[in-house]
Amino acid sequence: MSEKNVIKELQEELFYAPKHASEIISEEEEKKADAFAEDYKYYMNNGKTERESVKYFIEKAKSYGFTPFDRQKKYSAGDKVYMNNRGKSVILCVFGSRPISDGVKISAAHLDSPRLDLKPNPLYEDGEMAYFKTHYYGGIKKYQWTAIPLSLHGVIVKKNGETVEVCIGEDESDPQFVITDLLPHLAAEQMKRTMAEGVKGESLNILIGSRPFSKDEGSEKVKLNIIKILNEKYGITESDFLSAELEIVPAFKARDIGFDRSLIGAYGHDDKVCAYPAAEAIFAVENPAYTAVTVLTDKEETGSDGNTGLNSSYLKYFISDLAVMGGEEPWRVLSASECLSADVNAAYDPMFPDVSEPKNASFVNKGVVITKYTGARGKSGTSDASAEFMGKIRRMLDKENVVWQIGELGKVDIGGGGTVAMFIANLDIDVVDLGVPVLSMHAPFEVISKLDLYMAFRAFKAFFEQK
Ligand code: MN
Ligand code: MN
Repeated sequence: MSEKNVIKELQEELFYAPKHASEIISEEEEKKADAFAEDYKYYMNNGKTERESVKYFIEKAKSYGFTPFDRQKKYSAGDKVYMNNRGKSVILCVFGSRPISDGVKISAAHLDSPRLDLKPNPLYEDGEMAYFKTHYYGGIKKYQWTAIPLSLHGVIVKKNGETVEVCIGEDESDPQFVITDLLPHLAAEQMKRTMAEGVKGESLNILIGSRPFSKDEGSEKVKLNIIKILNEKYGITESDFLSAELEIVPAFKARDIGFDRSLIGAYGHDDKVCAYPAAEAIFAVENPAYTAVTVLTDKEETGSDGNTGLNSSYLKYFISDLAVMGGEEPWRVLSASECLSADVNAAYDPMFPDVSEPKNASFVNKGVVITKYTGARGKSGTSDASAEFMGKIRRMLDKENVVWQIGELGKVDIGGGGTVAMFIANLDIDVVDLGVPVLSMHAPFEVISKLDLYMAFRAFKAFFEQK
């Protein structure tokens, strides 16, 4: 063997150098990944908000034989249940053959994505046009939300207690909404502002109409016309907005990106690109050894507080119920459990190379990314997975030929972020972040790779199928 080949072989053996998934997986598996992506796009167009996602996943769970969890009932291995938490988060569970004291295997992803929420009193008129006032939800770059088509989703609880569901702007025949921006001709002053200030929070008002109620004299006639239309359609009056959760999201559909169709552009990949494969993995699992749990949660983007977020006790209560059924103390089951915190990481972006440290960044198409720690400023606010648990997960992925890489969220001190991992770790559960690399994260239109999405599915499935 030549000297050159010896070096190459040794490097191959000794270096850590993640490869493009296409170089590792078979053509047949690539086809499976493409087919998986088709179903994912359908979901992305039908589950844009946490409420719509919960509905989508419960319907699908039912078709796989899942039934509502009833703690009075006796369950046996292979039984499938779901627990709907207030219509905004959901737990899917398949009972294992091992005793519950061996712990459960959890995949935890979030269904909420950055967006604009309507204020409690949103409707007003200005310049003979009607608007909704918003308060943004999660981390957004405000300028990205102007001059793009928007849709309105959510629920309104009326004075009489009746709930109406709203979804406008997704159907081809629906009207859509928009936030206007200044023309460049007159934007000299605006262009001098920082990008953070270019579009201000109180300017994120949604244009919703422009025709007055009648020719008669009077003020706020456009606003009157809008509320009249809403009254006819939903039976609501202005005060009903006080008891509503209405969310403005991009009206874009999920689309293939690139001549090779290798990528998907969509609103809300963070974190539906992990929620979807985590759900599909538990749907695919038959008779697991360990009890398998997929929790699809809410409120991650605002810090996981609130009773539908993972900083609340709903997951702990659910596992406690399983423990009690199996005659075990709840904390013993929690302490024996393991979790993949299924969340996205920032993919290396050649347009912005300065924020990443390439030896520890994740890359599109190099498989699922394992993120040992998140946080900021000296790992503040991270659970930091142990070497032992990292070791266990990489062995599991290698054994199942799942393409994986490691990733860190940006260079040291450049920023940072968190996931639900720390809230699960605080229950004394072993946990590590594992998810899909995303380009343009938190933008109205984010980009992921089809191969990475499929590898996430394979990873969660392998996790649930441990013996
Ligand atoms: Mn996320
Ligand atoms: Mn996020």
